[in-house]
Amino acid sequence: VPELPDVETFKRYADATALHQKIARSQVKARAMLKGVSASTLQRRLKGRTFQETRRHGKYLFLEFGRRGWLVLHFGMSGSLHYYRKREAAHPHDRLIIHFADGARLNYRSQRKLGEIGLTGDPDEFRQQHHLGPDALDPDLDFGSFYEALSDSGAAVKSALMKQQELAGIGNVYADEILFQAGVHPATRADRLDRSAWRRIYRAMRRRVLPAAIKGQADPQSFPRSFLTRRRGDPEARCPRCGGPVRTMRIGGRTAWYCPRCQRSGT
Ligand SMILES: [Zn+2]
Repeated sequence: VPELPDVETFKRYADATALHQKIARSQVKARAMLKGVSASTLQRRLKGRTFQETRRHGKYLFLEFGRRGWLVLHFGMSGSLHYYRKREAAHPHDRLIIHFADGARLNYRSQRKLGEIGLTGDPDEFRQQHHLGPDALDPDLDFGSFYEALSDSGAAVKSALMKQQELAGIGNVYADEILFQAGVHPATRADRLDRSAWRRIYRAMRRRVLPAAIKGQADPQSFPRSFLTRRRGDPEARCPRCGGPVRTMRIGGRTAWYCPRCQRSGT
């Protein structure tokens, strides 16, 4: 599921492949994924333009293609970007194909069509319209504002971290990793955690989990050995810290992975 580190990886991929090339045409293959724009408008506005820069906010990627024109991509449960220099048969799950004048292509792929394709005139306006909180890596997000935004929730701390209106970018997998690294039990009510536990969560998120996941290009196999995510989904997985069995539980409709020995704080 693409979360902040995955989308940051797509951003860097797009920066390395798709900028400064003339867009010959584009094809929308799944109109149901369009948000607030028709296929003909999107195709007309992209035609003849070049992507100048990209931005990411939370789980959204923005590609600028000229004055007040940004393509907006959200990757849903399984979306991804693929750039091809040569002609190659389209993948059945390609939902948007950008054809560049030199024959290269950028394909936005989404198996279950749960993402979004749209346009905006301004990513900051888009963020306000969609009630997105600050990006989890925003340099201006200091501990005080993080604590203010999340600590009065009556929901489980894991759900609080995933609430995009308060903090943009964290989903199911990285919420688990952040709480594991902070030693906090995922089911603890957010408003019952003390300030020092929140400080550990903030530090784990900002200094450890997100930077390492971006460095590893969101591929769990390249994460540090101390990360729980490396063996996520493996029922035989042992805790990398204490060697004990890893447990799962349902929180907010999602499966949480955690170590009952190492994550006692808050229980
Ligand atoms: Zn443990």
